[in-house]
Amino acid sequence: MPVRLFNTLSGQVDELVPTDGKELRMYACGPTVYDYGHIGNFRTFLQIDVLRRFLNLTGMPMRHVMNITDVDDKIIRNAAAAGVPIGEYTPKYVDAFFEDLDALGVERPEIIARATENIGRMVELIEKLAAVGAAYRTDDGSWYFRLRSFPEYGKLSKKDLSGMEDGARVDVDEYEKDSARDFALWKAAKPGETSWGTSIGRGRPGWHIECSAMSMNYLGDSFDLHAGGEDLMFPHHENEIAQSESVTHKPLAHHWMHVRFLLVDGRKMSKSEGNFYTLRDLLIKGYKASAIRLALISVPYRHQLNFTFDGLVEATAAIDRLRTFHGRLVNSTFPEGENPEIQAAAKTAHETYMAALANDLNTAEARAPIFDLVRLSNTMMDQGKFYKGDRGVVLEVLASFDAVFAVIEDRDTEPTRRAVEWAAKEGRMADVAPELLAQQSLTDERINGLLAERDHAKKRRDFARADQIRKELTEKGIIIEDSKDGVRWKRK
Ligand code: AMP
Ligand code: ZN
Repeated sequence: MPVRLFNTLSGQVDELVPTDGKELRMYACGPTVYDYGHIGNFRTFLQIDVLRRFLNLTGMPMRHVMNITDVDDKIIRNAAAAGVPIGEYTPKYVDAFFEDLDALGVERPEIIARATENIGRMVELIEKLAAVGAAYRTDDGSWYFRLRSFPEYGKLSKKDLSGMEDGARVDVDEYEKDSARDFALWKAAKPGETSWGTSIGRGRPGWHIECSAMSMNYLGDSFDLHAGGEDLMFPHHENEIAQSESVTHKPLAHHWMHVRFLLVDGRKMSKSEGNFYTLRDLLIKGYKASAIRLALISVPYRHQLNFTFDGLVEATAAIDRLRTFHGRLVNSTFPEGENPEIQAAAKTAHETYMAALANDLNTAEARAPIFDLVRLSNTMMDQGKFYKGDRGVVLEVLASFDAVFAVIEDRDTEPTRRAVEWAAKEGRMADVAPELLAQQSLTDERINGLLAERDHAKKRRDFARADQIRKELTEKGIIIEDSKDGVRWKRK
């Protein structure tokens, strides 16, 4: 099935093709590990996960590389403030990042490349740039990219850079969005800063060079897809193109995917505005990882996502609906036969779902037919018109849905438990939702023990005690379901 995706470089929706005829080679810019990831970051990683999972579903293998920026201005600043070398500062945030990805059900890329482990490759690339006249050294021992040497600069972001000042330089990684100036490839060592002694001098890499060096190392001079959040389009990706193509004279990537930013309540997320959330902030407030995942992926990646708590509540309800339906489908006994209406609806739902994702990853249009099918199936079940022969086809549709959306199977307990554990370590217990605190004090063993006691109480007709146990568990967020096969429980 052809998968079509908007390509920032061509300015249109293009088919995604593995140019080597085998696997789709993708490079996605990873996190800068100076702090915990926020939900905006995770929107981007989740949308890339949606693409990954969908390509997998269509049978397209991937070679997906993600970098970890473990040296940059912010890391150096924060590590210095904490009084530790960067190598001691970043591991905590690298681990936290992967723990958060796991919580959100984000699959791991095939290759994870760390900047600090690829310094040699960056130095080699800078030497090649110097050899073709695209890099120059300044008196302090830093190296810069000469923008004038690359006339195609601006082709990705479509910026008009005619007013560009020759030789104007910028040496910080974060800078004004509209000015194009010679950017740092290598920053000369400063006292107290981490540095590497290399053939181009002692120093450390600028931010942009790592992605050029690592992407080409793991994927070749020219690969299929490069992805990241929209803020990276300029200057980061533009700079990557300049660094790589000045040396190879080949397109760095054929296809460029940019995920639009997440806003919170219609505003830019910022600490000073008080609307800044990490994943952990939301987990300890009692929102489930699956609901956060669904809320962050349900708006297609090219649309701005306005994050609200109402959106999380909606996602929670939607997941409940899916899980309850899935349970009903698996656990009920249906009469022999098939309902042609269900058979046709399942086929249509599956086709509409796949077509929507294949059309520029339209997750909103993809999810709608699945919920329609759930509604129809529930109605048919209520009327006794859902049959044994319908179960398999509907289950298959749900499986395709979950292969990409990954929210039906309940993996919510562990991320919440870990987040509360983290809050305890970080002195954030005051922010933990009261119902989570109560739940955490109840281990599975304790719950099973109480349920066994309740069972005994019922057998000896001590209904007061049985009700008291149920009430206590319910108050602590444990849902008890009595059925003919015994009692089942789950955490709310
Ligand atoms: P960083 O750790 O800042 O380098 O960012 C990691 C990824 O998150 C990059 O692809 C960014 O473009 C992306 N990103 C940062 N902020 C947001 C946001 N508010 N919405 C969506 N993506 C974002
Ligand atoms: Zn990058």
